[in-house]
Amino acid sequence: MSNDCLFCKIINREIPTEFLYEDENYVVFKDINPAAPVHLLLIPKKHIRSINDITWDDEKLISGLFLIAKDMAKSQGVNESGYKLLFNVEKGGGQEIFHVHLHLIGGWKR
Ligand code: 5GP
Ligand code: ZN
Repeated sequence: MSNDCLFCKIINREIPTEFLYEDENYVVFKDINPAAPVHLLLIPKKHIRSINDITWDDEKLISGLFLIAKDMAKSQGVNESGYKLLFNVEKGGGQEIFHVHLHLIGGWKR
């Protein structure tokens, strides 16, 4: 938990947000400013600043994001049409919220 982290506040329900999925280690919710018809954020509850800060101790936590991603893609109906999975890393990589999260983006008509 980081006191000044927006995603920690969402995880701790200090900022009300509908979770599409939650378990003891993760939450999933919709991006507030979607880049596509489906745009979810998949987030470990553990506060890790960015992919630069993961360690081998986080191996299962980070790999679990991909297993949640494929399940969320299916429940959102984009598993067959296809989707993108994206980590923005640090400012130059477009990261704005410094708590690791995986973007799941899809649902385009094309
Ligand atoms: P980043 O640029 O750090 O990879 O992605 C952060 C994402 O969080 C952005 O796509 C942004 O739209 C989203 N976001 C920022 N603030 C909020 C918020 O308060 N609620 C939700 N649901 N998404 C947010
Ligand atoms: Zn955080």
